[in-house]
Amino acid sequence: PMPHGASSGPAKKVPGVKHVIAVASGKGGVGKSTTSVNLALALGALGLKAGVFDIDIYGPSIPRLLGTEDTRPESLGDGKITPVFSHGLATMSIGYLLEKDTATIWRGPMVMGAIQQMLRDVKWDLDGELDVLVVDLPPGTGDAQLTLVQTVELDGAVIVSTPQDIALIDARKGLDMFNKTNTKVLGLIENMSYFLCPSCGERSDIFGHGGARETAAEKGITFLGEIPLHMDIRESSDAGTPIVVKDPESPHAQAYLEIARKI
Ligand code: ADP
Repeated sequence: PMPHGASSGPAKKVPGVKHVIAVASGKGGVGKSTTSVNLALALGALGLKAGVFDIDIYGPSIPRLLGTEDTRPESLGDGKITPVFSHGLATMSIGYLLEKDTATIWRGPMVMGAIQQMLRDVKWDLDGELDVLVVDLPPGTGDAQLTLVQTVELDGAVIVSTPQDIALIDARKGLDMFNKTNTKVLGLIENMSYFLCPSCGERSDIFGHGGARETAAEKGITFLGEIPLHMDIRESSDAGTPIVVKDPESPHAQAYLEIARKI
């Protein structure tokens, strides 16, 4: 069913953007935003003009991951606003438009209104047309996700999960939502796949291992790859320079690049 207030028109292209890919997860805290940002940067490193659009209205984290928390979009006068640029990415986040640390207590129609307004008003091609826009969805299958899949012509969706059963069960629900809305699922990424000890290099399967690969096989979707649980991934993101930019030769940055080549 259509959520309240959503546009009932056909899904449209985002102005100034060639391709749109959504990054989804069933559950919060599985590393979806970290994956979105590093994937967008990896697509950039492969020579594409890329952007990230954070529609996690209740917990926008892209500005923190890209070190743009104190930057604001500029008004272009004609009702349009500029994206915020960081590490070569064009970005937009509800976080830029809210006061820091204010809790967002919005009802569904307001969430949908904010997303639709940003889709309409951001001048993504300020610096030239984007080849690909990565949309960081909120976890789960709520209003924001539905608004996006119904408003925007998506080229596909990527689902991020940890190897744990509970996260995988939720990821299956996400898969269902995309199937029901005829969105192509590009594949599943297993994040926090295994732990690489920064001092000795030994590998441990903290959350179990291989669960996402099995789910992908069972559901007949592509398994896109594994990202290790590694201190450098968290530290670099927390410092605003994600691993793909900070240490592109590292094996974990290469893991993102390998996935970017497949999508
Ligand atoms: P989500 O968007 O799913 O809520 P985040 O991307 O915000 O998750 O990640 C949650 C936390 O886990 C963050 O502190 C992030 O730095 C960390 N994290 C995510 N992926 C990894 C990883 N592969 N290795 C280490 N830390 C990670």
